[in-house]
Amino acid sequence: MRAAARRVNPPRLRTAASCRADNAAMRDAPPAATPEPAHERVDCVVVGAGVVGLACARALAQAGREVVIVEAEPAFGTATSSRSSEVIHAGLYYPTGSLRATLCVRGKALLYDYCAARRIDHRRCGKLIVAQDDAELVQLQQLAERAHANGVHDLQWLSGEAARALEPALRCAHALLSPSTGIVDSHGLMLALLGDAQSAGALLALRAPVLRARATPHGIELDVGGDSATTLLATSVVNSAGHGAPPLAAATAGLAREHVPQRYFAKGSYFTLGGRAPFARLVYPAPGESGHLGVHLTLDLGGQARFGPSFHWVDGLDYRVDEDDAAHFYDAVRRYWPGLRDGALQAGYVGVRPKIRGPGEPAQDFRIDGPAAHGVPGLVSLFGIESPGLTAALAIAEHVAALLAR
Ligand SMILES: Cc1cc2nc3c(=O)[nH]c(=O)nc-3n(C[C@H](O)[C@H](O)[C@H](O)COP(=O)(O)OP(=O)(O)OC[C@H]3O[C@@H](n4cnc5c(N)ncnc54)[C@H](O)[C@@H]3O)c2cc1C
Repeated sequence: MRAAARRVNPPRLRTAASCRADNAAMRDAPPAATPEPAHERVDCVVVGAGVVGLACARALAQAGREVVIVEAEPAFGTATSSRSSEVIHAGLYYPTGSLRATLCVRGKALLYDYCAARRIDHRRCGKLIVAQDDAELVQLQQLAERAHANGVHDLQWLSGEAARALEPALRCAHALLSPSTGIVDSHGLMLALLGDAQSAGALLALRAPVLRARATPHGIELDVGGDSATTLLATSVVNSAGHGAPPLAAATAGLAREHVPQRYFAKGSYFTLGGRAPFARLVYPAPGESGHLGVHLTLDLGGQARFGPSFHWVDGLDYRVDEDDAAHFYDAVRRYWPGLRDGALQAGYVGVRPKIRGPGEPAQDFRIDGPAAHGVPGLVSLFGIESPGLTAALAIAEHVAALLAR
């Protein structure tokens, strides 16, 4: 296992060099009759170094726990966390009382404070949700009621003229302004979270996929593959493996099958706009019935506009942009921005939503299963952490740390 960490309080985990020395010694030794796996005792293991895993590692390390983060890839944050819209969501859309609603609203406040304190690039640019007709106005009214019930009390109604005074290129009959929506540099956020975790003693091991786990009376054993394969025995494990969380749960002996959700993949392609964006705020259409937010306009911190994401159920991870989506994008975007020129959209990138509800099933919530849910002491599993997981990461981490508090 290759460790890439600055250690403040040296954890008991062996270094990669000592693992290699032990491996060499084992190779040279005569074969034992019943080979025993080498256990490395650690307090907490966080599986997955996306934004949520890093936030959990930071919270646990800052609470005084010994933490090892194990990540399958050669770098942190290369999966869903680097393929989002980078929007700090206000908390408007999710059912009142759901984890998505409560952790988004709490996470937004924590994230703005954290970005300010750690000088992470972000902007509270605001967003306009637009209605073109009376039917869409009703959808906006329902959205405003839900937002209020979720604790979002700063929405402002705008007429079409008032919205155009803010954004001259916009076409709409009515708009809701969400001033607390913003954008964040997601990579800068992850760097800061990792830095904090490491300063509190956490260790990051890259190219270290967790292959399987076992609940034992002494803790949770994790077989880690990769360059220096090893077995860890942990008091607490956070399964924050994103798309990999359901398969890891399925490969955990002692965790009953009924606590392992089916995974699904919903692909979203983005298209970028050549040249400068004609808007200073994010623009979203009325949400409609589908539960997906529609082809919206977001901005990056350099001021470039991107449109998306589309929504297609797929069978697995597929990061190729669906170029055929472009025709639909032109139609959808011209409803609120008639000035979009032919040929202005360029294929951007793809994110894949980690779903635990399939086509035709009711909308999913975040699923954060602690020991009370599944009966395995010390295990917290995070499933279906799609949007607004980036916004909610610090609040999810608080929640996970509370579930594992001793
Ligand atoms: C298209 C799209 C747009 C989005 N836009 C927004 C937005 O604007 N605002 C917002 O708040 N949220 C947004 N989200 C949601 C947000 O991006 C995610 O909720 C968040 O990134 C999830 O982070 P994570 O750490 O749970 O998962 P990931 O980033 O997927 O990290 C999981 C990590 O686990 C590792 N891993 C997997 N299996 C194993 C294993 N067995 N052993 C070791 N490591 C393993 C992976 O390599 C990966 O690095 C969006 C999501 C999508 C798909």
